[in-house]
Amino acid sequence: MIIALDGPSGTGKSTLAKILAKKLGFKMLNTGMIYRAITYYYVKKSIKADSQEVVSSIGNLNIKIVFFGNDQNVFIEGENITPFVSNVEVQKNVSLFSQILEIRQRVNVIQREFANKNNIVIEGRDIGTDVFPNAEYKFYVVCDTITRAKRRLADLNSINQQITLDEVIKSLQERDHLDTTRKYGPLRKAEDAIEIDTTNSTINESLNEILSQIKF
Ligand code: C5P
Repeated sequence: MIIALDGPSGTGKSTLAKILAKKLGFKMLNTGMIYRAITYYYVKKSIKADSQEVVSSIGNLNIKIVFFGNDQNVFIEGENITPFVSNVEVQKNVSLFSQILEIRQRVNVIQREFANKNNIVIEGRDIGTDVFPNAEYKFYVVCDTITRAKRRLADLNSINQQITLDEVIKSLQERDHLDTTRKYGPLRKAEDAIEIDTTNSTINESLNEILSQIKF
């Protein structure tokens, strides 16, 4: 079974997907982490998103999703990139890398292979629209921008990243713009997705809203 959660950054998708997967005994796939890991890999090598080198190398990169218990890790060329996926440099660049067709195609293959082997809760931007249009359940998670920014700031502060609320708001707005207007795999609500607004809800309330829709 595939349960898809799409929506903008910082709406609470990852947290909801994690708890939901645990409750149902499913694997949870965080697809943003895969795009972030790829971004980190290229940024570290000083390779720009619009460079031909990205297009020519992405197909040959050794990308592995490895679970330590319930925790997803992404390895690229043997290096565990997971500790670096929330770096400010990754935040700034991830939407530029994730708009590249060849990168999306590569990540789509990883996602589909994973779904062939597991019941999954999967969260991202284009899961219910492009990657798994036939997913059994689709949810579109939304939340107002200020609330999202405050949540993201708390996450970044907890890993000692120094950034202001205004900078987080600006970065979220830029990412929203790039994610919704890109040519390949844009962020949009699937017609048959159920909208979940987390702005004024606790995680438990949103989770119950989702669980109330799921029938086995
Ligand atoms: O979900 P998260 O904030 O970690 O995603 C980081 C970025 O990765 C998004 O802003 C988006 O540019 C990209 N992404 C994507 N498609 C997905 C998941 C994430 O393009 N399925």
